[in-house]
Parts: sequence; C-alpha cells; structure tokens
Amino acid sequence: MTSVTVRVPAKVNLQLSVGPRRDDGYHDLVNVFHAVSLFDEVTAWDAPRQDTAGPGVTASGEAGSVDGSPDGSVSVAVEGESAARVPLDGGNLAVKAAVALAARAGRRPDVRLRIRKSIPVAGGMAGGSADAAAALVACDALWGLGSPREELMEIAAELGSDVPFALFGGTAVGTGRGEKLTRVPVAGRFHWVFALAEGGLSTAEVYGECDRLREATGEQVGWPSASDDLMAALAIGDAKALGAVLSNDLQPAALLLCRPLARTLAAGREHGALGALVSGSGPTCAFLAESEDHATTLATALEAAGVCRTAVTASGPVPGAEIV
Ligand code: ATP
Repeated sequence: MTSVTVRVPAKVNLQLSVGPRRDDGYHDLVNVFHAVSLFDEVTAWDAPRQDTAGPGVTASGEAGSVDGSPDGSVSVAVEGESAARVPLDGGNLAVKAAVALAARAGRRPDVRLRIRKSIPVAGGMAGGSADAAAALVACDALWGLGSPREELMEIAAELGSDVPFALFGGTAVGTGRGEKLTRVPVAGRFHWVFALAEGGLSTAEVYGECDRLREATGEQVGWPSASDDLMAALAIGDAKALGAVLSNDLQPAALLLCRPLARTLAAGREHGALGALVSGSGPTCAFLAESEDHATTLATALEAAGVCRTAVTASGPVPGAEIV
C-alpha cells in the first residue's frame, strides 16, 4: 500500500459538565460527545528513508518536515480551513500520533502526511484531536500493523483527552478527563448549524477563566453526572427536547473571553434554533435545527446577520475516523 486516506469528524459537546479542579490541574468532566458530519481528511504516504524534503503534495504550498525519531522522519502539509494556523512541526497532533504509533510498533515513523481541514482550528470542535485519530488509523493501515482498536484507543488517550472519541464516533459519554467512553443510544439524526468565528480560543485559557469565575463567585461545584433528560431525548430522537437540555459549563468563560458570541447565540435563537450553545471551549457556536431545511435557512440567516465569519451545516451522529 502506498497511501491511505482517512476521514474524521468534528465533535460538539451536548453536555460539558466541569467538576472541581483536581490537584493535577485537570478537571473531572462529564462530556457527552456527538460526532457531526464536518470532516477533516488525513492522507498518509510511504516516505522513503531519505525523503525528508517535504511532501510536495500540497496546493497551498504549506509544508513542513520534522524529525519523528533519531532514525525516521514525518513530513506534513496542511490545506483548507485556517490551515495557516496549524503547526507544521512536531507540535502538529497528527505528527505526534504517527510518531507515537511507530514507537509502539518499534519501527521508523517514515511517513508523509497531508491534512485537508474543514474543522475550524482552535474552534472547540476538537479538530487537532480528530487529525491525530485519523493519522493513527491511516499509519496503522499504511504500515500494515493491524493494531486492535483497543490499542489505538490507548495511544489516542495518551495523545489527548479528545482523541479517543474521534476514533469512537457516534454519541458517547466521556468521563475522567473525557477519555473513558460509553456509547449512548441515539434514534435518528440531528441537524446542526455551526457558526465559525474569526480566530480561536485557547482551551487552557477558557478552563482558567472558568476556574477564576468560580472562585470569584464562590460557586460550589459538585461531582458531575450525565443528564437523564439528555439521554432520554437522544434515545427517542426528540430534537426539541434535546435543544432544551444542551449545556456547557465552559460557556460563561468563553463568553467573557469572546464577548461577541452572546450576539451570535441570540441571533440563532431569534431564527428558531431549538438549542444554542458554545461548542466545547469555543468560539464556534452550535445551533440545533428542526430539520435539514431549517439548518440551511438558519445558516443563511446567521451569515446575513453578520454574527459569524461563516456558518456551516452538518448532521450527527456519524462514525469516527474511517478509511475512505
Ligand atoms: P478542543 O475542542 O479539543 O479543545 P479545539 O478544537 O479548540 O480543541 P484544535 O483545532 O484542536 O482546537 O486546535 C488547538 C491547537 O492545537 C491549535 O491552536 C493548533 O496550534 C494546535 N494543533 C496541533 N495540531 C493541529 C491540527 N492537526 N489541527 C489543528 N490544530 C492543531
């Protein structure tokens, strides 16, 4: 095999409950992840041993090459949505994934990667994590490793708490730091609009602001648990009920750090969104629509209102990273 392409979805959090800050700085979370049809695509090519000059496959001309190990190399090119904001060195999560998988397999990580982005960068939709999951699946196939899913899930959890869900897909409750996943039964399909903002928000900064706000207000936070009403709405495919129970504990912090988002959320509600919330750590805003047609109308209305850079429609749940 000389190349493998993997398609991987973005996620939106239907519930993001943030527990008290732990001694290690992380928070215990209850995270209801939902994979939506907004996809990045990662292609992995065989890279001959000496080939470290860059992939030569990118239309955008953005390419970088990094040493993956003392005796191997990974090169990466990125194109598409906000590609210029994606690192092209060892900080790229897809590169990290290729290096981690090669180390586990005891081989050289010689590979050329190309990432086609549609998932907003630093948008609260786990785009970098998605690319890492896609790179794991692509390199595993390219190198003929045949790793069991559980092993890829283990490597994924080491790479970041949102990476396992990008492999898992569908709808799932994540606990711990978000990486322990339990599948949630869902009837039917839900239609979404995502309002993409100018720029991004740093996840660490949003968590920091959330801690600061809680300290300032003396808010006592209990141990989080998955909402029964949310599970019931998903099980029967009731979009109206789902819209009423969407929740995100990071939203107040994201709104403080990015004040225009309040207007974006209000505009979506004015145009009949069944639910409106900041996606993860933001600044992307997610709107639940009544139908596919309503999603299209809502996206047009949000763009016309000038409350976002662009608005895209998607539906969920969809499967996790898969070879195309
Ligand atoms: P999450 O929802 O998991 O908190 P996010 O969607 O807000 O994440 P990402 O798009 O994953 O944010 O990007 C976060 C940062 O990760 C970016 O600012 C970028 O510098 C870095 N990064 C590393 N690799 C990638 C990648 N392949 N795609 C996008 N960003 C990447």
